[in-house]
Amino acid sequence: MTAERWEQYASDAFQNLFREVQRFTRYVYILHLLSWDQETYMPPGGTEARARQISTLASLVHQEASSPRIGELLAQAEADAQAQGWPPDSDGMGFLREFRRRYDRMTKVPVEWVRAFTQLTSEAQVAWRQAKAESNFARFAPYLKRIVDMKREYAQFFAPYDHIYDPLLDEFEPGMKTAEVQAVFDRLREVQVPLIQTIRERPQVSDEVLYRPFPVDKQRAFVREVLAHIGFDFHRGRVDESAHPFTTSFSINDVRLTIRTAERDFFRQALYSGLHEMGHGLYVQGVDPAYEETPLMGGASLGVHESQSRLWENLVGRSRAFVHWLLPRLQAAFPGTIDDVDVETLYRAINRVEPSYIRIEADEVTYNLHIMLRFELEVALLEGRLQVEDLPQAWNERMQAYLGLTPPDDAHGVLQDIHWSQGALGYFPTYTLGNVMSVQIWERMAQDIPDVDAKMQAGQFQDVLAWLQEHVYRPGAKFPPKDLLRRVTGQALNPEPYLAYLRRKFGEIYGF
Ligand code: ZN
Repeated sequence: MTAERWEQYASDAFQNLFREVQRFTRYVYILHLLSWDQETYMPPGGTEARARQISTLASLVHQEASSPRIGELLAQAEADAQAQGWPPDSDGMGFLREFRRRYDRMTKVPVEWVRAFTQLTSEAQVAWRQAKAESNFARFAPYLKRIVDMKREYAQFFAPYDHIYDPLLDEFEPGMKTAEVQAVFDRLREVQVPLIQTIRERPQVSDEVLYRPFPVDKQRAFVREVLAHIGFDFHRGRVDESAHPFTTSFSINDVRLTIRTAERDFFRQALYSGLHEMGHGLYVQGVDPAYEETPLMGGASLGVHESQSRLWENLVGRSRAFVHWLLPRLQAAFPGTIDDVDVETLYRAINRVEPSYIRIEADEVTYNLHIMLRFELEVALLEGRLQVEDLPQAWNERMQAYLGLTPPDDAHGVLQDIHWSQGALGYFPTYTLGNVMSVQIWERMAQDIPDVDAKMQAGQFQDVLAWLQEHVYRPGAKFPPKDLLRRVTGQALNPEPYLAYLRRKFGEIYGF
């Protein structure tokens, strides 16, 4: 039945292209399997062989997928689609639009540039690791300088553009412009910086309960039980462990999440990162099965993906209703550990706001400031307004302005994230875009499910999941992210619902 969905398009070029793209997509998902194994079960001795396997297969995919023959098939299929008047929101048009975007990205960037950049970033990651261990930015600076120079070159392959950062951003959030991100971030900054200041002046909330000892075997079982109860399909997915939690997939029917376990950090490392990754996983499991092995199977963008991980982690997982449902289950699973804790205590503990140096430990209120700082510095570097050697100082000044903190050293400041050494400039903003979208989507959903809090408190998540599947997950990458957001919410990207949510929730917790 799913094959018929694609066979209806009466274009030989399209049918040939479709079969070719299915083949590349299979390779790409084999690459996912190699990387997943590397992060979970591979013994350290496998590192070098695995790197060779990944780079051989990746260059094979690139070579085949960007070949002129594929370009000819694509152009012919587009001409057929136009001549035959395929509806703009048809699967066939979605396929052509998304594959065109990828094909252009692959072919506009010269192979020599890709090779040089891959070489540079693999050396840069080694230098970054040493620099971070020694807290010595000067060791990493020459590499970052070359990465910035090469990214400026990269932008030129996509000229003309409105802003030099646009082509970098577009790689992760198709169609999004730097000016739009700046406008949203300006508004968030205006509200969130004073909000953090207000919270700092209020009596602190205790989160002592979060750091009590929870046996790790029971943590693993508990997280799986919660995820299965909410609706993560273990027949089509697994949960394993890795140093940094992530989600990947080898098929719509084989989705892999990872968590981390630590006896005295159950909530953050295992439970809430499990809910976060589950959000990514539910998205993939919810994509239209007909999109298997096509460019439409991955989701609309990183920002939309993050909106779903944040939605399940924060709007569901950190809600009072969820804690009502969760607490008795925790008390039953971990007897004697939190018998003395009530719903309010746990709710306040998991929502404690505390500015810190480290992004990945940030709470809902401070997180966006960490992202803003990185985005602003990336833009300044690309524009040439900021030099790499001045970066640590610029970082520390912004940390002070936004969070009232100065990192003790560069390891806890400008060197904390691996991303720049991997060449991922333009990527960070998708986290904040995800936060903003998550509340827009949630509020639209709540119009259709007015008793959503009562349902969550009773442990009934199926209506929420079904609504998200129908509106957000099922279309996969068929629509560009901006179109999808408008279809789902009736609005363009808008930070106001998110800001209102923060003020309401944290105003109540901190009493202002
Ligand atoms: Zn995520």
